[in-house]
Amino acid sequence: MRIDILTALPGLLDSYFNDSILERAQQKGLAEVHVHDLRAFATDKHKRLDDYAFGGGAGMVMLIEPIHRAIEHLKAQRTYDEVIYMSPDGQRLDQPLANRMSTLKNLILLCGHYKGVDERVRQHLVTREISIGDYVLSGGELPAAVLSDALIRLLPGVLNDETSALSDSFQDGLVAPPVYTRPAEYNGWPVPPVLMSGHEARIQAWRHEQSVQRTRERRPDLLDGPEGG
Ligand code: SAH
Repeated sequence: MRIDILTALPGLLDSYFNDSILERAQQKGLAEVHVHDLRAFATDKHKRLDDYAFGGGAGMVMLIEPIHRAIEHLKAQRTYDEVIYMSPDGQRLDQPLANRMSTLKNLILLCGHYKGVDERVRQHLVTREISIGDYVLSGGELPAAVLSDALIRLLPGVLNDETSALSDSFQDGLVAPPVYTRPAEYNGWPVPPVLMSGHEARIQAWRHEQSVQRTRERRPDLLDGPEGG
């Protein structure tokens, strides 16, 4: 998978992709993340990326031209499955959506700023809009990093234990069961004995039971309907 991120603040994203699992995924050649500075596509001598809103009102609006030029520049080099604008009123990101999108090959993620982008970007240049939740952040960089992380960790070979992503919360419509590690007893607080039994079937049954119970307690909405879309 290749992800190209378009942003006015590329520095915000560097550290996130140059560490941990995401860096390993890139070193193994399983994912590539390229961060592009929109300013490189600005046309005027001040390298402006935004301007006042027509009709007045507070807040600046991101110009369509640098965004259009950046997208065309990338599209001239390869075919993209989706051009995604990170937006609080987009489709809400959840695990089923991440699972579906993890099979895509080339993605462009556009990060907005200020009041957002000129509406014509949304009408004519992007193929999808994704939100990471019902709250407003000051820029699309964190949302783009969240989406990238959710997709990349699903790629086969990225996590050391191949089954690990499958046992995460939401993968089967349930939240994950509790996990423990050494010591078996700490400060008088023991680990559930079944986990030390070595009895694989009983352990699996216990984990499933715990998942169902936790889902009922914490996220009963997950038990109500079919997986979200
Ligand atoms: N005026 C806009 C918010 C702009 S926030 C509105 O009310 O909808 C500035 C930028 O941050 C947006 O362009 C978007 O790219 C990003 N952003 C903020 N919150 C987000 C969220 N919950 N999900 C995805 N992107 C978000």
